[in-house]
Amino acid sequence: MSWEDNVRKVVPYVPGEQPKIRNIIKLNTNECPYPPSPAVKERLGSLDYDDFRLYPDPSASNLVRAISDYYKVPEYSVFVGVGSDDVLAMAFLTFFNSGKPILFPDITYSFYDVWAELFRIPYRQVPLNDDFEIVKEDYYVENGGVIFPNPNAPTGIPQSLEMIEDVIRHNQDVVVIIDEAYIDFGNKSCLDLINKYDNLLVVQTFSKSRAMAGMRIGYAFGSSRLIKYLQDVKYSFNSYTMNIPSIELGTAALSDDAYFKDVCKRIVATRERVKESLKELGFEMFDSSSNFLFVRHREHSGKDIFDYLRENGIIVRRWDAPRIKEYLRISIGTDGQMDRMLEVLGQMLGR
Ligand SMILES: *Cc1c(COP(=O)(O)O)cnc(C)c1O
Repeated sequence: MSWEDNVRKVVPYVPGEQPKIRNIIKLNTNECPYPPSPAVKERLGSLDYDDFRLYPDPSASNLVRAISDYYKVPEYSVFVGVGSDDVLAMAFLTFFNSGKPILFPDITYSFYDVWAELFRIPYRQVPLNDDFEIVKEDYYVENGGVIFPNPNAPTGIPQSLEMIEDVIRHNQDVVVIIDEAYIDFGNKSCLDLINKYDNLLVVQTFSKSRAMAGMRIGYAFGSSRLIKYLQDVKYSFNSYTMNIPSIELGTAALSDDAYFKDVCKRIVATRERVKESLKELGFEMFDSSSNFLFVRHREHSGKDIFDYLRENGIIVRRWDAPRIKEYLRISIGTDGQMDRMLEVLGQMLGR
């Protein structure tokens, strides 16, 4: 008998690398290539450092109020956390306790199975179809809960509101979580459905479209009962999760809607342009509704292209998983960064 027999052993999630080298083109973790709104910088300058002696507001009420105003949702329907990873982990812990397997796609955000393992939640990974689409009927079976991103990651493929509502309607006895990390890049949020279905949790983040991954701000919308249960678990875990700068700077970011919309528009425009150029270079891809492209080359292996880009200072994301090992997920950077990537690919492919 050893103490090691009783350790909770987990295989941790592996995030995309954060290289220390400066002039690398980093297209591997879907961060925003532009800085946050100038309103954030201004608020940063006016933070009172003497306040850092104090614990932050445990309910992050400034931020909750700003999210409630911006999305026109009552404050009791808003939950905030340290990035949507924190929100999602709390939601797994709170809602997935039936003992029946929860369902999510086989190709999706690779944190879901990690949390399921961590919390000992049984799960079943439902295969996407050959076009990498989520098949809604696959979710019309007995289960302990449902979660998937819309648009899905890393494919970028969006689901319609009708499809999402059908899944919720067929799953009234469990909690359904829709992870909308990339919703601001061209797809429609299912937020309004929280008024109709009290078992729906919609999760979003400041990390991608609001250019604040480093501040760790995530949030969720749901019925008052759903949010209350989440809060009870969160306050049983750690009262002070969001720090003072995150609460205040997140609030400031929401005040500058013009900047936010402009950044999203620029990223979408770059994405569409790069898509055409990649097709000319012999790449195939899905129509992405996110700030990344999931691509495969007709002739060259995913690994060869990944390695070539890396040797030339460009980092993208690739998974050594059976169905997607020939694919690369390329985050949309600035126009300059994308032009450099296209130039390097042109060299490799002799075009
Ligand atoms: C990036 C991402 C998240 C987590 O983002 P946070 O930085 O923790 O807010 C959650 N879900 C998906 C699908 C993501 O791609």
